[in-house]
Amino acid sequence: QSSRLLHPETTIIKTPHSVIGGDQFVMMAGPCSVESADHVTRMAEVAKAGGATIVRGGAFKPRTSPYSFQGLGETGLQYLRAAADANDLDMITEVMDDEHVAIVAKYTDIFQIGARNMQNFSLLKAVGQTQIPVALKRGMSATIDDVLNAAEYIAAGGNHQIMLLERGIRTFDNKYTRNTFDLGAVPVLQKLTHYPVIVDPSHAVGEWDLVTPMAMAGVAAGASGMIVEIHDDPTHALSDGPQALKPKTYLKMAQQAFQLHTLM
Ligand code: PEP
Ligand code: MN
Repeated sequence: QSSRLLHPETTIIKTPHSVIGGDQFVMMAGPCSVESADHVTRMAEVAKAGGATIVRGGAFKPRTSPYSFQGLGETGLQYLRAAADANDLDMITEVMDDEHVAIVAKYTDIFQIGARNMQNFSLLKAVGQTQIPVALKRGMSATIDDVLNAAEYIAAGGNHQIMLLERGIRTFDNKYTRNTFDLGAVPVLQKLTHYPVIVDPSHAVGEWDLVTPMAMAGVAAGASGMIVEIHDDPTHALSDGPQALKPKTYLKMAQQAFQLHTLM
């Protein structure tokens, strides 16, 4: 089902304000976590100003430490929904657990499956039972075939609205970058599957000053869109501050990305 051989046309995913996988480059931006109603609304405005049609934000956060901020839960979903609606944007947010699929489904336009859950098969089956688009992030140590099989778990349930997110893989040298951005995965996944491929330069490199060059590299590699983390006060961000682009930097990067995409 996922194979390009059986389905040569790229899958086009339509959400109320976005077309993913078509000719247009799709920008998704927002804070790592939904922090407050006011903050996420302001970040949605910034996202939109950069040309984003989708605002991101985590309400259920997969933190490495159980003592780190875990997200606002359903309240966060409500804040993100309101921020999206106020700006005529779609929203994307992570669902971490099959128990939460129904509640996240009440609010979101796109489910994000996080890297840590790429092979959470009960979660994949649960989102596969819905008709809500799914953005499947590549696991930290997942091979391309692992990604394809994970996507197949979703498709097997009847949900074919899948996009694949390259967000960097575990690296042997994480002193300067958080992960290794596997740019080669972009054309490889496009060759093997008909699902749109999106790049996440933020998690791939983990440092804000490296995000713009890698974002451009993702566009040049042929991605259908990108998801990027932004924050107006990164030092006080509740998660992933070091990799967040401040509004001005984001706006410049986004403009360059759309421009570069026109050459592709
Ligand atoms: C995120 O998008 O904030 C996130 C936790 O990403 P990943 O699952 O790629 O680590
Ligand atoms: Mn993050």
